[in-house]
Amino acid sequence: MTVPKLILATRNEHKVGELRAILSKFISDLDPEVIQSARKFDIPEPVEDEVTFAGNALIKARQLAVKTGIPALADDSGICVDVLGGAPGIFSARWSGKHGDDTANLDLLLNQLADVPPEHRGANFTCAAALVLPDGREFSRIGQVLGTLRFERAGVGGFGYDPIFQAKGMDVTLAELDPEQKNAISHRSRAFEQMAPLVTAVLNNEELPAS
Ligand code: IMP
Repeated sequence: MTVPKLILATRNEHKVGELRAILSKFISDLDPEVIQSARKFDIPEPVEDEVTFAGNALIKARQLAVKTGIPALADDSGICVDVLGGAPGIFSARWSGKHGDDTANLDLLLNQLADVPPEHRGANFTCAAALVLPDGREFSRIGQVLGTLRFERAGVGGFGYDPIFQAKGMDVTLAELDPEQKNAISHRSRAFEQMAPLVTAVLNNEELPAS
């Protein structure tokens, strides 16, 4: 196996593909071999016990960078609903109690908001991207997409809460967009766009700024 220059802390191949697609918009000639997924390494997933997206993204990137000696890139994201004071937030993946049960998580959120009128259904998706170098330097960047929540699902694309999230200025949900359209506006894309100069420096063996 070619030794990668950067490891992505996600084991989810769908997300690896999405992150590669996002990064390749900002970094030309992105060689798939130089950025590899954590799945190739036999490292258990860490406990994400921080209380912010950035804190949890840093936990994932830090663990990989320390264990492999290779720069590591991680992300952590979720949906934040205004009327719920920012919840589900970091609990988005297990809002209904079962980790990763997208259907149950979305059903619960829809039920909780059943009586909330359209003018109070503001929400955002937030993503923190974190880069950690083996020498201990750490960087994090936040990306957001603002929008409102529908009363019912629409669309079959995307994942998670996409079928009820309508981004500001649009009249369809994220689940009704094709992947390129979603990537153009997504919270992940906005976080990684800010990370792109740092990632480019890592891939080119250039010096990075202090933070
Ligand atoms: P993760 O940190 O990216 O794994 O995201 C945690 C949870 O937030 C996911 O399980 C989804 O429920 C939700 N989420 C994050 N990003 C998105 C998105 O782009 N669309 C829909 N749901 C998302």
